[in-house]
Amino acid sequence: MKRYGIKVLGLGPYLRAPGDGRRSPQIRAETLIWALVVSRLLRSPAYHAVEGLVRSGACRALGAHRGFGDDALAYFTERLDAEPTRVALAASLRRAKRNKAFDDTLWISYVLDGTGGGRRCDAACALCHPSFDAEGQVVRYHHRLSLLTVVAGSWVLPVDAEPYGPGDSELAASTRLLKRSVAHLGRRFAQCVVVDAEYAGAPFLHAAGTLGLPVVARLKHNLPELFQAARDRFEAQPPTRSFQEKGERIEVWDADDFEPWWGLDWLSVRVLRYRQHHANGTVSEAYWLTNLSPRRAPSRTLFRLAKSRWGIENQGFNDAKNRYGLEHIGHHHPNSVLVDVLLLGLALTLERLYRLRYLRRGCHPPLSAITFCRLLWMSLGRQPPASDTS
Ligand SMILES: [Zn+2]
Repeated sequence: MKRYGIKVLGLGPYLRAPGDGRRSPQIRAETLIWALVVSRLLRSPAYHAVEGLVRSGACRALGAHRGFGDDALAYFTERLDAEPTRVALAASLRRAKRNKAFDDTLWISYVLDGTGGGRRCDAACALCHPSFDAEGQVVRYHHRLSLLTVVAGSWVLPVDAEPYGPGDSELAASTRLLKRSVAHLGRRFAQCVVVDAEYAGAPFLHAAGTLGLPVVARLKHNLPELFQAARDRFEAQPPTRSFQEKGERIEVWDADDFEPWWGLDWLSVRVLRYRQHHANGTVSEAYWLTNLSPRRAPSRTLFRLAKSRWGIENQGFNDAKNRYGLEHIGHHHPNSVLVDVLLLGLALTLERLYRLRYLRRGCHPPLSAITFCRLLWMSLGRQPPASDTS
């Protein structure tokens, strides 16, 4: 897999010079980076688990010529410049696009969202946010971060992340993240950005517009006038159209002539309502707003873009949290936290492209993520931990 990363995704120069900030390094930066990436794919992200691996018979298979301790990883990640990892991640995605990895799909979208994790009882670094009880007493601390993911058909690939501290906000962190990702990936990489309702304010919509990106945003009660106007109109009308999607009936209402709210510089707002009739008899409904024209994104395309929001939930956060340790804080230091989440993004992108594209050549069905993880453990001459049942 490392060879694939170097030859196909061009990660060689990054692995040799990942932004090491140590003064007199005893262990090569490439060794430490690769051990951190592989430990995430082995679903053992804790620094002491990495130490256990490199001090075992798996040392050489991991590309480490000598063992090292968890304190060496803490010292390394505190001082590692995060920018080369961001640049390498973006370059891998650009190269995957050039190699036609996403050619099956017409739309590539950015999906932005925030999440939390790393709960503890006391503050351990500048990124620890206090949580208060009803009396205003601090009950615990946790971390917050924004994540930007590329969604292209069935591909869900993390691009960049920004942990943020108390006093900052998800919206501000996500806006910085979007600007930086467009700078790294280029203006033409994706065609739109898909976000939840809390992003549907004029400042974020204008910031995306400045970057040349139309927005697809969930419409909820935080825009009460537009939400009510859309409900009043659509509930009095039959659906604009209906279609089958993955065996389920979808009804959509779609109109592009709603009044923009005060402060929004759009000429009009397009609103889509969908009702999805699930196979088990339940019905889910949602409203979305956008400045994509119906000609560019017909109702069915807009429905799919809106549903891609769940890609980041399922293959982004849930996968990263439940399987790859996104919530685990290896070392409470702002730079280590940032580096760890970026290396998790690099690990997931590398794994998905390698497993689903490189290993899938011919007519073989793709390996599942857990089968790939078990094969990785066996390639190290070790058994996966018994608790790993996902
Ligand atoms: Zn912390």
